[in-house]
Amino acid sequence: MTFKEKIDCLRFAFALCNKFDKSIYPIAVLKWLCNAILPLIPTFFSAKIVDELTGSKDIKTLILYGITMAVLIAVFEFARHLTDRAMDDKTELLHIYEGKVFEESIVNKDYELLEDVDFQTAVKAYKVVYQNNYGIFANMWFLFGNFITGILSLMFSLILVGPLIIKCFEIDNSSFLTSYKPLVILAVSVVFIGFFMILIGNKYSKIMNGLTLKFNTLFGIFSYWYNFPLKYQNGKEIRIYNAQETVLKKRNESLNDLYMWDKKSFDSQAKFTSILMVFQMIIMGMFYLFVAIKAYAGMFGIGSFVLFLGASLQIAEGINLIGQISSILGMSTEHISYLKRIVETPQRKHIGTLPVEKRNDNRYDIEFKNVSFKYPGTDEYILKNFNAKLEIGQHMAVVGKNGSGKTTFIKLLCRLYDVTDGEITLNGINIKKYDLNEYMSLFSVVFQDFQLFSVPLSQNVTTSLEYDKEKLYDCLDKAGVKERVEQMTDKENSIIYKDFDDNGIEISGGEAQKLALARALYKDAPFVILDEPTSALDPISEFEIYQRFNSFVGDKTAIYISHRLSSCRFCNHILVFDDGRIVQQGSHDELVQNTEGKYYQLWSAQSQYYV
Ligand code: ADP
Repeated sequence: MTFKEKIDCLRFAFALCNKFDKSIYPIAVLKWLCNAILPLIPTFFSAKIVDELTGSKDIKTLILYGITMAVLIAVFEFARHLTDRAMDDKTELLHIYEGKVFEESIVNKDYELLEDVDFQTAVKAYKVVYQNNYGIFANMWFLFGNFITGILSLMFSLILVGPLIIKCFEIDNSSFLTSYKPLVILAVSVVFIGFFMILIGNKYSKIMNGLTLKFNTLFGIFSYWYNFPLKYQNGKEIRIYNAQETVLKKRNESLNDLYMWDKKSFDSQAKFTSILMVFQMIIMGMFYLFVAIKAYAGMFGIGSFVLFLGASLQIAEGINLIGQISSILGMSTEHISYLKRIVETPQRKHIGTLPVEKRNDNRYDIEFKNVSFKYPGTDEYILKNFNAKLEIGQHMAVVGKNGSGKTTFIKLLCRLYDVTDGEITLNGINIKKYDLNEYMSLFSVVFQDFQLFSVPLSQNVTTSLEYDKEKLYDCLDKAGVKERVEQMTDKENSIIYKDFDDNGIEISGGEAQKLALARALYKDAPFVILDEPTSALDPISEFEIYQRFNSFVGDKTAIYISHRLSSCRFCNHILVFDDGRIVQQGSHDELVQNTEGKYYQLWSAQSQYYV
């Protein structure tokens, strides 16, 4: 990352903080002030007490110093405790807030980004940061806090020993000790070592970034194998194929890799922090030596000597903390960049503004005009110069070999992807011009890899917390699964799967497909599309479902994709796909006449097994 990109990341993170809660800033400043001032209080008063003890020895003054020191320490300690707690609370809430920002961003992004490798890499990396580092803020505020505390410590310590430093400038060239030379040596050394510490911090954060990226991968692999035997869905295969040993071996290997990573990271951390500590000690030692030289030369008394020693400790600590700026810009900005990339990845699709006309007659005609399409990031055209018309009320079947582009055609139709070339029109207008959500609301699609969620059955079908129960049961009935639901103890409130509920119900593949069909019926959209969702059903059930479904679909436009050509025979129009093109179309009876055609080839390949 360039310096500018790092600054942009910080800006992004602070903009999120601003949006969340601006009260975090005064709390943070108060906390940093307390952290910087607190160690200087005993230093300051110890020097005063020593001066008093070696001077006039006035008991009243000594008691006053003692009490003032105790009160100030108590006040600052209390303030530090309060601000620490408040800051912990704030960063915890920020952690929740950034999780919300992340999730909202993911849910609202174009579907195609969910299949995009770069986007997924950022998502995975961010998830690890979110889970293991308490998100981007805890670390950022910690490091930023160190940096500011360092500056404040340095500033206050210098103010405290300012008069003494000025005294050190009183040059008397009669001896080396009182000459300007010790001061020059000290100043040059501190600047040089401070610079060196920043360089080392920079290198450290680079190494840690590399290790974090590696951790993301290793943690992903470990999580997979750790959860593998815990997922009861994997239980059958593990036992039947005697995979216990392999699974445990894989798990142990991934755990070992993680352990080795941990060791390496710990070693690096230990190495760098010890080097930094050594430099901090050197700076401190040089200050001690300098002050000792000046005191020895009789430039100030023992109290000032004590003050100087305490302040030097804080100066060295301050320089060390300031050196952590490179870590802020390194490690923290790297973490922020994951979330920034996710949030700021632009939507690729046009989000049109045109409302979709609500029509009771469902007069929605769609046309693919010379459409070509390749998936983002790939070179191969999946659909080539594709032309098709979907007319109102048409019940159409789409058939073709695996990989011929049938599902891709559906994804383009409902705008999960946009065409690469050509256009798709709805009632003559490019679909990109329509409001995306309104346009998508025209489609009920059941994909072959449809998903049911671990929520009540009713919410699975209606995808809503509030629903029309009568309509729900009507759809369950039409999809052929009403009786099964009525037999369940909790009926439509039964939780699907056992992820969160021991009483969750396990349903067969066929039942799941019927629930997915009920979901499509409940949406009641003008276009209904079934993309091979019935593969778990036997051929007779599939045929029955398709036919029944077809009668419920009524005057809506319907598209059916099935491997089993017999299932689609009832359709009045059949499109035959081959290698991203429509190679034939017509009714079953027409198509089967052409013995040279693709349809005949597919049909005879399947029908020979039924003769
Ligand atoms: P069908 O539904 O006819 O089996 P698909 O439309 O699913 O065919 O796939 C057509 C081609 O597109 C296949 O070669 C498949 O590998 C490719 N494909 C599908 N999805 C993606 C994707 N997200 N990224 C890249 N290629 C894809």
